[in-house]
Amino acid sequence: MKQCIQCKSSFEITDEDRDFYQKIKMPAPKLCPNCRQQERLAWRNERQLYHQTCDLCKKNTISVYHKESPFIVYCQECWWSDHWNPIEYEREFDFERSFFEQFCELMIKVPRPAILNRNSENSEYTHICENNRNCYLLVESSTNENCLYGYWIQKSKHCVDCSHCNECEWCYECENCKQGYNLFFSQNCQTCSDSWFLKNCIGCKNCFGCANLHHKEFYIFNEPHSKEEYGKKIITLKPHTYPEVIKTKQTFEKWRQEQFYKYAEITSSENCTGDYISESKDCYECYNASQARDCRYSHHVWRDTKDNMDVDTVGMNSDLNYQCINTAINSHHNLGCARCWGVSDSYYSNECDYSQNLFGCIGLRHKKYCIFNKQYSKKEYHRMVERIVKHMVKTGEWGLFFPRNLSPFGYNETVAQERFPLQKENAERLGFKWSDVKTEPPEAKKKIQSSKLPDSIELIPDDILNWAIECEDSKTPFKITAQELLFYRKKGLPIPHLHPDIRHKKRMKLRNPQKLHHRKCAKCQSEIQTTYSPDRSEIVYCEHCYLKNIY
Ligand SMILES: [Zn+2]
Ligand SMILES: [Zn+2]
Ligand SMILES: [Zn+2]
Repeated sequence: MKQCIQCKSSFEITDEDRDFYQKIKMPAPKLCPNCRQQERLAWRNERQLYHQTCDLCKKNTISVYHKESPFIVYCQECWWSDHWNPIEYEREFDFERSFFEQFCELMIKVPRPAILNRNSENSEYTHICENNRNCYLLVESSTNENCLYGYWIQKSKHCVDCSHCNECEWCYECENCKQGYNLFFSQNCQTCSDSWFLKNCIGCKNCFGCANLHHKEFYIFNEPHSKEEYGKKIITLKPHTYPEVIKTKQTFEKWRQEQFYKYAEITSSENCTGDYISESKDCYECYNASQARDCRYSHHVWRDTKDNMDVDTVGMNSDLNYQCINTAINSHHNLGCARCWGVSDSYYSNECDYSQNLFGCIGLRHKKYCIFNKQYSKKEYHRMVERIVKHMVKTGEWGLFFPRNLSPFGYNETVAQERFPLQKENAERLGFKWSDVKTEPPEAKKKIQSSKLPDSIELIPDDILNWAIECEDSKTPFKITAQELLFYRKKGLPIPHLHPDIRHKKRMKLRNPQKLHHRKCAKCQSEIQTTYSPDRSEIVYCEHCYLKNIY
């Protein structure tokens, strides 16, 4: 057992870990897996968007960098264009100075893309997204239409406040659902439709408040009903006002707590530990893995990816990546890279695309054998890299992720703050940056406390589009969009009382903390590894017992 130099918790370096470090010629880490992830996530601003001016075309753009940020920021049209040449920012490697110090200077010089949002239509407030139409405030979501406030949603239409959903339509407040249709307040469901408050159901329709059901219709709290009975009861059960939604949620949650739970959301997988894993094999302590193999301490590894360690969002035919974040799409053998797509055999590079053999490069595309954006011959490159690695071993930089003060964002702007929340002084004590930029309140004709909103949607006037609603929880004002109002009216749903960020936070809380515990199956007493800590009251079953007991 090793002790983490940051949080002092003990962590294991397994034989498989050692084999991997040997394979990629990197030293074993001194931080535990959580602290390692924290450093990577501090490079990922998902939700803080600002109004900016493009430093090239001078047009207004939405940006993850605020105006006071020291970087040169190009709108995405300019950034992906040929109107600038990243190779012009080349610099010599200085063996008298540390690598990261020089990399930091390069970061200040090379333009950065304002936002990642390609090939989208009428969806300018979406980030780490592509191919969306008429969408608003989506993160890491692609190929959607008319979706609002989504997180990791793909190929979906008309969904509002959903996360980790795939091929869903007309869903509201759903988390981790696949092929849902007209589904409300549901979690971990597949091919369910016209239902409310379902958890872990498959192929159900016209059900209300059910858990662990397969292919059922007209069930209420897991009890069968005739079509007529169901039709009558559902009228009074469906919540129409905001207080009714809250009350029904509470009633359902209380009932749900008494039902059994599956030890983890792991399906069609072999020899995997972690949570939210499907069609994967030999993944160790991974979360959100799909079609992944031999990944360790990794998050969001998906679509044909293997042999990765300590990575976040790495997928689509990518392998042998270590300490990388958002390094996807045919990415092979990369170490310490952040937001690089189609990149191979590269080290400590950022915002590079479709390139090979890069070392400490920023903003390059279609390049080979470059160091600090300077072009070398193949022979020179390898000779230089050998020297730089030796230099970095000497300076103690080799094998580390980018230092914390190099992150382009304040800690509180990033997803690290969501997963590992810190106060300003603690974040700074740990070497992270902090952003003191205040977001501008939305322009509005009047401000209203959410508790003063008319309870049901029928009583909401069109004028609400001009109001700023004060969030019940964070007190941050937010607005309702026309598209959103239309959705609530069509579905008879009340106006939410919470700011979109708080709604997102609450949805993320529907998942267990990402920490594995040893526990015994409540049925057969066999040993399980689960995110349900032993002191939690839920009845947790092993895979075998769970499948035997679903209805
Ligand atoms: Zn630690
Ligand atoms: Zn521009
Ligand atoms: Zn069991």
